[in-house]
Amino acid sequence: MQRSAAGLLGIGRMRGSGQNNNGVGMSGYLGKLKISTVREGEGSMPMQFAVPGVTAEDLAQMRPWYWSKELSEDPEAAVFRIEVRSYVLQVDGRNVLIDTCCGNDKQRSVPWADNLQTEWLQNLAREGFLPEDIDLVVCTHLHADHVGWNTRLTNGQWVPTFPNARYVFSRKDYEFFRTQTHEAHNHEAYMDSVLPVVEAGMADIVESDHCVHHEIDEGVWLEDASGHSPGSVVVNARWGGSQAVFTGDVVHHPIQLVRPDIPFFADEKPAEACATRQRLLAQCADNGAILFPAHFPDPPSGRVHRAKRYFSYEFL
Ligand SMILES: [Zn+2]
Repeated sequence: MQRSAAGLLGIGRMRGSGQNNNGVGMSGYLGKLKISTVREGEGSMPMQFAVPGVTAEDLAQMRPWYWSKELSEDPEAAVFRIEVRSYVLQVDGRNVLIDTCCGNDKQRSVPWADNLQTEWLQNLAREGFLPEDIDLVVCTHLHADHVGWNTRLTNGQWVPTFPNARYVFSRKDYEFFRTQTHEAHNHEAYMDSVLPVVEAGMADIVESDHCVHHEIDEGVWLEDASGHSPGSVVVNARWGGSQAVFTGDVVHHPIQLVRPDIPFFADEKPAEACATRQRLLAQCADNGAILFPAHFPDPPSGRVHRAKRYFSYEFL
């Protein structure tokens, strides 16, 4: 069904404490969906490393709707900055945690995720949630920066952080990361942040179109977004006339709206990732769904519009 953005109910600016670089989250309503952000941290890399081949013209095209001090119209000087965050979606009395960042105390062979000590759990509490309050954890994919808080270190053991939750993992990613070893940090994350959940009997290994929660014409469901990883999914939520899409790593940065055709350096299957990115962005431009990307600058949510060549983004 085509649904214009203007036809969605109750969309306003995400309310809350504004920029959350100091760890303060934001929450707001999209119709009857309540969505909170839980920040872990941020990182950056050269633009030409993240999305090789971005041009001065591409960067200039982004300027009317997104700019920031670390950007430059010189592609060699521009910096690709990302936030790392989770979302909590409250729908129909259930608290759904989407993606769980890097986690604390995890031994990783990459410095950006190694032995982090962040206030993610406190940030979750600031948004009003204790670990016991989470009913469902959904990981959009099983990379190290999306599964970390699935477990925490207790008496020397990795135990599930959310004792009352079911954890949803896509089957294709579960099978892939169980056996792949070419990226050590992602295998390490599988061993300490995915396997203990499975061994505790708390995981549901599902197909990529799994329906998480359903009422007539409303619900929360997964949609295949393979490419960034083999089993990447996005999480769709439609309730009370509003639609949100938690896009995981389909896009990391606004420049990828201008150039969705350039692979991101960490895309496992570059051509498939680019095709998926373009398909899902076009779908959002057409159905008016509000995006909630994992790594965009604050405040991250927005609408996709078609632009001359590809897309632009309207931050809300
Ligand atoms: Zn990520």
